[in-house]
Amino acid sequence: MTITNQSSFQGKPDGKGKLYLVATPIGNLEDMTYRAVRTLKECDIIAAEDTRQTRKLLSHFEITPSQLYSYHEHNKAASGPELIRFIVEGKNLALVSDAGLPAISDPGAELVQLAIEQGIAVIPVPGANAALSALIASGLPTTSFTFAGFLPRERKDIRNVLAGLRQVQGSLLLYESPHRVEKTLVHLQEAFGNRRVVLARELTKRYEEFVRGTIEECGVWLKEHPPLGEYVIVVEGESRAEAELAGAAWWQEMSIADHVNHYEAEGISRKEAMKKAAADRNVPKRDIYNSLL
Ligand code: SAM
Repeated sequence: MTITNQSSFQGKPDGKGKLYLVATPIGNLEDMTYRAVRTLKECDIIAAEDTRQTRKLLSHFEITPSQLYSYHEHNKAASGPELIRFIVEGKNLALVSDAGLPAISDPGAELVQLAIEQGIAVIPVPGANAALSALIASGLPTTSFTFAGFLPRERKDIRNVLAGLRQVQGSLLLYESPHRVEKTLVHLQEAFGNRRVVLARELTKRYEEFVRGTIEECGVWLKEHPPLGEYVIVVEGESRAEAELAGAAWWQEMSIADHVNHYEAEGISRKEAMKKAAADRNVPKRDIYNSLL
């Protein structure tokens, strides 16, 4: 790897523009920062996840974009390189998502990578973020935490991901839709036991609410108060007692197939995954191969 150095505001002009990652409110328009407004006014191009949504925001802040492009999950492969070309040619580009920080459970990370490959300066313009807003008011430990975003859709994948997170000792942050929050609590209870949890809903909006209790208690609460709005789920990390009690490995209750799938889901090859599972279990690799035949 070659080391690279970005001096965001000191570098000599190189003719290229910059990529600004601009946070927008997650519900309350007062959370728009002065710097976000100025950056959006000054940039040559705004790239937005949903241009209609962003137009409303821009018009609220009396920002008239010179050019508004769409950049979302389904066009990012084609749109990304085009946007990068504009920046290389000298245009300053601001990327916004529908809400909060671009590149956090929103498109943006790939554009950042492309920009860095082209030696383009990437400038964060911070602001609202749902996960951290939930965490700081949750009452659960904030010294260390893991952000896992949205869980996968399939039961098997959910179980694998949660099995990998079971031994995380800091708070766990998840994004969830109202349709799935109850099911997710069931998965969390299966994977972690009845830990403390906080359901943070409609942050910064009129119906903002924090429901704090055990997973079981919050499940009962949701039966009586059907989920509405957007949720962040903050889950207490593994306690020392749990860790000692568990003593055993996180994969112990998994089948060999799930154990291997878990590693594959992290992005390594099946062969490597089988090797790792064999090492965890302290058994010869061929035992793993054979049991998967
Ligand atoms: N980029 C955003 C950020 O920085 O927070 C997250 C975007 S992600 C596509 C949307 C998810 O974030 C929602 O499904 C919900 O889980 C969470 N979220 C966004 N706004 C929220 C709010 N006002 N209250 C609670 N959760 C919110």
